[in-house]
Amino acid sequence: MSETRIALVTGANRGIGLEIVRQLSRMGIIAVLSGRDKEKAESAASKLKSEGIEVAVVPIDVDSDSSVADGMKQIEGLFGRLDILVNNAAILTDGPDSGATIANVSVETIANTFNTNVLGPLRLIRAAIPLMERNDYGRIVNLSSSLGQLTEMGGGWPAYRISKASLNVLTRMFAAETGSGKIKVNSVDPGWVKTQMGGPNAQLSVEEGAETAVWLATLDDDGPTGGFFRDKKAIAW
Ligand code: NAP
Repeated sequence: MSETRIALVTGANRGIGLEIVRQLSRMGIIAVLSGRDKEKAESAASKLKSEGIEVAVVPIDVDSDSSVADGMKQIEGLFGRLDILVNNAAILTDGPDSGATIANVSVETIANTFNTNVLGPLRLIRAAIPLMERNDYGRIVNLSSSLGQLTEMGGGWPAYRISKASLNVLTRMFAAETGSGKIKVNSVDPGWVKTQMGGPNAQLSVEEGAETAVWLATLDDDGPTGGFFRDKKAIAW
């Protein structure tokens, strides 16, 4: 990689997103740490600064068309390009403790989850592709989940499962429509990771949880597109 790549990671003020920013930065990529709350994003960036890692902070609320448009404009102004987009931001509000089932979960919960976890990435990818096309290079990584796998589909987490299965549809469709393979679009299941979302009993550290996403964000030109990966290996949809 001869030129310096620019990477945008959404929802990166904590959890797996923050770790993806850390790992990409260590590889010499200029990372844009994005979060919906400017102060939280800036505080995460100062934490990285104390580790010797410099990042740019661009606030983006993925729920909002105008926030995504403003954020992308800011990135274009700062760097004039975007090479990597990691759609990491997501919400999970209907886990087992909520008692939610597909039969009782409110339509509002489904709609809110869909807006953040599916329409958020849709907004970001649509805004990112024109910038990526300028340099005929792009790596788009969608943080999905085993809970969105149709082959493994079961009960519980209804809105979240619907959202992650739908996110995988975005991966397949954008990979098909971006055509040449210069812009690669892939989904990743990070595994069960110790974060606010994953909880303290999860199996993996954030370092482990970020690994496959970082690998997909930095794929060589002959790397895959339109796939779903866990532990750097293809898995079933
Ligand atoms: P997390 O700790 O809950 O962090 C989620 C991040 O998303 C936070 O920074 C949050 O910001 C941000 N976010 C939520 N809504 C947003 C919005 N509208 N705009 C911008 N940012 C928003 O979650 P995580 O465990 O790191 O998960 C990262 C990704 O991996 C998610 O896509 C998740 O679905 C996926 N995943 C996680 C696991 C796991 O075991 N942890 C397993 C499978 C998949 P605030 O701080 O402002 O709330």
